[in-house]
Amino acid sequence: MPKEVIIGPQDGQSKPVDSGVPDIFRNEWSSEEDRALRPQRMAEMIGQRDVFARLEISIRAAQKRREPLGHILFDGPPGLGKTTFATCIPRELGVAIQIGNGATLKSPKDVVPYLTNAEEGSVLFIDEIHRMQKSVEEFLYPAMEDFRIDLTLGEGVNARTLNIQLKPFTLIGATTRTGLISAPLRDRFQMREHLDFYTVDELSVIIRRNAGKLNVKIDDDAAYEIAFRSRGTPRLANNRLRWVRDFADAKANGAITLQVAVDALDMQGIDRLGLDQQDRKFLETVLRVFRGGPVGIESVAHTMNIAPDTLIDEVEPFMLRSELIIRTPRGRRLTEKGFRHLGANPADYEEFPLFPLIKD
Ligand code: ADP
Repeated sequence: MPKEVIIGPQDGQSKPVDSGVPDIFRNEWSSEEDRALRPQRMAEMIGQRDVFARLEISIRAAQKRREPLGHILFDGPPGLGKTTFATCIPRELGVAIQIGNGATLKSPKDVVPYLTNAEEGSVLFIDEIHRMQKSVEEFLYPAMEDFRIDLTLGEGVNARTLNIQLKPFTLIGATTRTGLISAPLRDRFQMREHLDFYTVDELSVIIRRNAGKLNVKIDDDAAYEIAFRSRGTPRLANNRLRWVRDFADAKANGAITLQVAVDALDMQGIDRLGLDQQDRKFLETVLRVFRGGPVGIESVAHTMNIAPDTLIDEVEPFMLRSELIIRTPRGRRLTEKGFRHLGANPADYEEFPLFPLIKD
């Protein structure tokens, strides 16, 4: 007969609350410079005003009631600020954060240390939460709902269930694919926030501010040009700014004028819509090989010799947003704007053009 043992959190185990930058962050950021450019507080974040306002209310309410913040799920394309929000929230609350990644959570035992280490009111951030194994997901349900986990130890007649009470914590999940999150998991998040692409004006503000942090002089029209060619994404805006800064150092006197920005971005193969070589290769493959579509995304990925996930997560969302392609039940299809961007005429790509027309 399986035995039930109840274990509660032991007071001696709790660590002091730490609102500073945890060590684990140091691996998360690729360089000191990335860290310097990432907003540290929510008030420093530009754009996403609706999301910001809702989070602010929930944070204030949680603080007032001295309760942990409800679980939050962020979704949206990469580089739009999911991690930034997730790391600013615990700073606002003055609590510690642990960071995990769904891809590494392969069995319940992988997630147990995070749960048992979670301090009262602290945040557990799981990036790429859609990549978690189903068994981990199911294991998380009682942890999210009742702050409790059930561990089975041993096998057969010796098996027993350990019922462990956790300290109340906040789970923050981030995903590029809400579609892959099961309904039971999704429903256990009290807040679900979708991050959308940024406007050119918002990105201009980010670029001007970050140019200041990097000690580089930039003209307003140059900042606007870089913003315009950043595909609505702060991470790309930062990457493009750093490239333009290097270019300005090497080719000009270090200051970023409009001409310097244009020359630098042109040299990197970033076109006037902000598409890079990979983006254009995607459009060109749909045009050249599949005559404008409709075509399944997997077929395009195989032809390009690239992982379908990369196309779905990183390339396609901005193409859809800028109306260069549309999704139809039969697959992706170039729009008139998509054809024209590649300098092609849609009339030259009529339906069934792969087969010679049979004339009587
Ligand atoms: P995600 O987790 O969605 O992939 P990140 O949060 O890592 O995106 O954001 C990438 C980078 O973009 C950050 O390091 C930061 O420099 C910048 N960034 C993101 N959101 C904002 C924002 N709202 N305001 C200013 N910079 C931002």
